[in-house]
Amino acid sequence: MPLGHRPHLKALCQRASSSCGACCGLYNREDHGESAVRERLDARTDALALLPRTPEAFRAAAERIAAAEPPPVFPSVRVCPLLGWIDGERTRAGCLAHPAVTGGPDLRDQGVYDASTCESFLCPSHSWLTEEEAEIVDFTCGDTWLYGLVVTDVPFVRAALDAVGALCGARLERRHLERAAVREGLWRLFALKEELEPGSEGLFGAFRPGADGEPAPRRIDYVSMGREGSPWDAILLCVGADPRSGNDLDRMEGEVRARLEACARAVASASPVRPPDAWSRSCRR
Ligand code: SF4
Ligand code: SF4
Repeated sequence: MPLGHRPHLKALCQRASSSCGACCGLYNREDHGESAVRERLDARTDALALLPRTPEAFRAAAERIAAAEPPPVFPSVRVCPLLGWIDGERTRAGCLAHPAVTGGPDLRDQGVYDASTCESFLCPSHSWLTEEEAEIVDFTCGDTWLYGLVVTDVPFVRAALDAVGALCGARLERRHLERAAVREGLWRLFALKEELEPGSEGLFGAFRPGADGEPAPRRIDYVSMGREGSPWDAILLCVGADPRSGNDLDRMEGEVRARLEACARAVASASPVRPPDAWSRSCRR
């Protein structure tokens, strides 16, 4: 899945600045905070690093890794122990069983699916996101954590871009992100996904685990909180901004409003363009 399985177009799995492993189960654990995810990817990468590139060795290692990890939140979304870091700097999540990573043998049959499933699967975002929207998410996130949370939640991306556009009076475009302040403003809006309470359903977009383990649609029960609704409902729903999803509605709504307004101000301002390589994760906090 996440490594170059769509050579005919710019797949979402490995982009210029970001990578995703969501469909290999990257976030499908109760603790899906960034440090927990990084720890798991570290452990798997270390466990597989020195193994012979054989089906037997990878199958046994996959079983050991899986047995050491906690259970999934969504049982229907499998968590593959062969997802790890595919670059030496450990900045890109990807398939450690892919031939391009093993140096020859295709060992994806030893994961939770089979190689042909891994090769052919494309998540729905590939059908729904435009290339420009994908570029915006990649360029704004530029990592292997927030990117996967955002790029797989098309309603959230659309709601965020629509809301910024409504405030600005014009749609936010990729060219606007050349301005560092705009990029930072949009990053802060997207980063709502990083700041949810542990275990929040908002990490999975506008869905929750259904009784059968399949994702089920959610909605915010404003009436039970004495509210009629919110102008930012589309965003709030995607981040799970209600107590049942583990987050405080008023606080989240205030954050959404403040971040939208900051982003819109940045679009409207005439701040000078900063080159992309001056942009690092450390300066976005
Ligand atoms: S969830 Fe989508 S973008 Fe992410 S790795 Fe899977 S197919 Fe690629
Ligand atoms: S083998 Fe595992 S990590 Fe690799 S693409 Fe398939 S599911 Fe993802």
